[in-house]
Amino acid sequence: MRAEKMTPAEEGERRPPSDPAALRAAMVEHQIAGRGITDRRVLDAMGKVPREVFVPPAYAAFAYEDRPLPIACGQTISQPYVVALMAQAARIGPGDRVLEIGTGSGYAAAVLARLAATVDGVERMPELVETARRNLTAAGVSDVRVHQGDGSLGLPEHAPYDAILVAASGPRVPPALEEQLAPGGRLVMPLGGGFGGQTLIRLRRTATGFDKEDLGPVTFVPLVGRQAWPGA
Ligand code: SAH
Repeated sequence: MRAEKMTPAEEGERRPPSDPAALRAAMVEHQIAGRGITDRRVLDAMGKVPREVFVPPAYAAFAYEDRPLPIACGQTISQPYVVALMAQAARIGPGDRVLEIGTGSGYAAAVLARLAATVDGVERMPELVETARRNLTAAGVSDVRVHQGDGSLGLPEHAPYDAILVAASGPRVPPALEEQLAPGGRLVMPLGGGFGGQTLIRLRRTATGFDKEDLGPVTFVPLVGRQAWPGA
């Protein structure tokens, strides 16, 4: 961020959108429904969560654009479409217990909270844990618990989960997360290295093991942890 004084035009760009509800409705229509997301509850949730509350103030004007945006610690708030795609793929029911790994800004957790009974978020960076909690409070979301820690190990004390969503890309599905999936549970996460060549997968726990499906190419920040990529 530059330190110099901004021009009035730049000041204008920084301002939060003046009609976020209209921008949000357009986002749902064009970016989410328009790209094939059909789950009514997901569309409704995406239409209710104020994304402008979850992006850094400098990017508030871009909150409803079709892209990820930078947040603190070199991380990103996911593209709205990707949040919707993962939420739909996880087939979350109103009674479900959900675990989200990589809570970042808290935006996806706020969407998941509208779909599920409970949401536990795990975030590795302490600064982002604080940010997520603050953002969730500011958005009026009180039913998400944000935990600091290595989400590649899951949250064994609160398991099992009906759905686990991982918002960062790992080398494999962490065995700890497989173990914490309830029978019939769904895990949605990107697999693959660096910032390219990743695939979104869905794992479903069956009576005898796991079914795995590829959901297509994606780009996420790396999942760094004991059962993920080694840290710097
Ligand atoms: N769902 C977030 C996306 C954040 S980007 C949102 O809606 O804003 C992914 C996040 O995963 C980053 O904040 C990063 O710090 C976090 N992360 C990476 N490895 C992690 C790990 N092992 N455990 C928990 N969080 C992790």
